[in-house]
Amino acid sequence: MARVTDPKCRQCRREGVKLFLKGERCLTEKCAVERRSYPPGQHGRGRIKQSEYLLQLREKQKARRYYGVLEKQFRNYYKKASRRQGITGEELLRLLEMRLDNVVYRLGFAASRAQARQLVRHGHFHVNGRRVNIPSYSVRADDIVSLRPGAAGETAVRSATDLTASVANWLQADHDNLTGKVLRMPDRDEIDTPVQEQLIVELYSK
Ligand code: SF4
Repeated sequence: MARVTDPKCRQCRREGVKLFLKGERCLTEKCAVERRSYPPGQHGRGRIKQSEYLLQLREKQKARRYYGVLEKQFRNYYKKASRRQGITGEELLRLLEMRLDNVVYRLGFAASRAQARQLVRHGHFHVNGRRVNIPSYSVRADDIVSLRPGAAGETAVRSATDLTASVANWLQADHDNLTGKVLRMPDRDEIDTPVQEQLIVELYSK
């Protein structure tokens, strides 16, 4: 299954913001964005000619990297969002938020989306009592996400819960029993993704 393999800190430096792709390291002073806050590469500190297109492209890349989604899959999410009722940009973020790997991360069961993706891929999580090993699986309201009994990933999941300060309002987590519930779809103001989704819509609408 294809996945994003670019170096994680390089992705953050390219976008100029912390995308929290590496778990605990992102919370320390070792974070590459804090140490070298300019784009990577030989010309990273050179002058960049700004344009409307560049702004839109960077915003799309930022969102894609934040959720660890490849280009084709991201475009499919956009198409799906544009067919829904409601504001396309918000629907796009909602679809991305409802991915199982994102929900596992938001519940605090993984230190990063990459770790959540791997735990899901290796079959450590159940949704409504059934094993689901597809990171892009779209959860629904009232779904129960739980660690599979006897799963080898329990130690990693428990350490991740220790790093979790809070859980999003649209989710409910029980860190003792390692179960969580999706209460509802998130509202836009409950999604803290640092992107201006309208720029992504403008890019894809060209
Ligand atoms: Fe991004 Fe985390 Fe690396 Fe900082 S440490 S640059 S937030 S992946």
